[in-house]
Amino acid sequence: MQLYSTLSRMVEPFQTLYPDRVSLFVCGPTVYNYPHLGHARTYVVFDVLAKYLRWTGQEVLYIQNITDVDDKIINRAQEEKISQKDLARKFEREYIKDMLSLGIDSVSYHARATTHIPEIINQIERLVGIGVGYITETGVYFNIDSFPRNGELSGQSKDKRISRVTDTKKHNPADFVLWKRGEYGEYTWDSPWGRGRPGWHIEDTAITEKYFGQQYDIHGGGLDLIFPHHEAEIAQMESLEGKHPMVRYWMHTGFLTVEGEKMSKSLGNFIKIQDALKTWDKDIIRYFILLSHYRSPLQVSEEGLLNAKKALEHIRAIAITDNGPYPEGRDAFIAAMESDLNTPNAIAAIHALAAHGDLEALIEYGEILGIRFLPETSAPLSILQDIRAELRASKQFEIADMIRKKIADAGIQVTDPPLKPLK
Ligand code: AMP
Repeated sequence: MQLYSTLSRMVEPFQTLYPDRVSLFVCGPTVYNYPHLGHARTYVVFDVLAKYLRWTGQEVLYIQNITDVDDKIINRAQEEKISQKDLARKFEREYIKDMLSLGIDSVSYHARATTHIPEIINQIERLVGIGVGYITETGVYFNIDSFPRNGELSGQSKDKRISRVTDTKKHNPADFVLWKRGEYGEYTWDSPWGRGRPGWHIEDTAITEKYFGQQYDIHGGGLDLIFPHHEAEIAQMESLEGKHPMVRYWMHTGFLTVEGEKMSKSLGNFIKIQDALKTWDKDIIRYFILLSHYRSPLQVSEEGLLNAKKALEHIRAIAITDNGPYPEGRDAFIAAMESDLNTPNAIAAIHALAAHGDLEALIEYGEILGIRFLPETSAPLSILQDIRAELRASKQFEIADMIRKKIADAGIQVTDPPLKPLK
């Protein structure tokens, strides 16, 4: 398989650290609100990646973190007058529920930040121990000047890489926080630097080091996470262990946009997954997402979803008669998936497989893409088609046409082969 890595900015042959074993980590959500279609885009892509890698016979350990301690959670919990934990658990449940409704069921383990506090503290202690973490009145910070490779992933010049956390106690505006001192309600823990809570970046490296070790195969997330989040993760882990690269394949999804702007909670232009599912079923949403390459931006629109619906209906309408394997179509599907997860080309191959009646491939590849390509009623339908063929052969066209009309009323177009010439 060939995968593009943001780190090398090249499509590279995919080689795992250990044979037949893939370690995949994708940044999970901050659980303070309902997930939207932007999240769906990113998580459908990695779901398909995990399913495809498993289909090729590799063992995939797919971990996602859940950011359940964060300023946004603290603020929202205060607004709603509920505890941070209750709020975070509520939206974690909503997230898992929505992911399952979209057929995203490939994650091996969801790791919460709050259940990895000992690992987080341990990592910070080691960073302080080797002199790259420093302690101030307000917390513990990472000295970014100590890590010369900083900036390699994002390719940004140094003066642009200013951390969002503005704190005059920091030695350098680009330094980022590892531990925030203070009382933050129930999600505050004791640490060697006093009570407080972890910074955002350290939760991911604490989790990945625990389950994968210092190096692993693929790290995924949306484009917005390259800087500062993923740069910071690299700085933390590679400073600690000196092993480079922490991750070779950095995969970043393009944004799902609305009228050219990123769909996001803060812009208020978001469509909740739950609401989208009231109009469009999960197969249509997945088809729509996979019709674009994961690195391209994806403009969401009613028209785009409607076209996806029609295209999927077309596949289901023609995928009726089983004609056995269509090898060219199967090769095209696999070649597309191997080529940096080129799902638009994979879907083109699905159309060819449907046109040639390779139903077995449609079922199997449908499981990889998480989309049902056969009509729901395909078994009874093929029986009805057999009956119609018998009726037509014995010239009982009226009854045969009546059955065809009933099938058409159910939304499925049936075309008949020409009748055999009479002897
Ligand atoms: P967040 O909820 O901001 O913590 O994001 C969780 C994941 O969803 C991250 O990988 C984001 O990059 C991704 N994400 C959020 N919004 C979008 C969007 N509009 N398009 C694609 N991915 C997104």
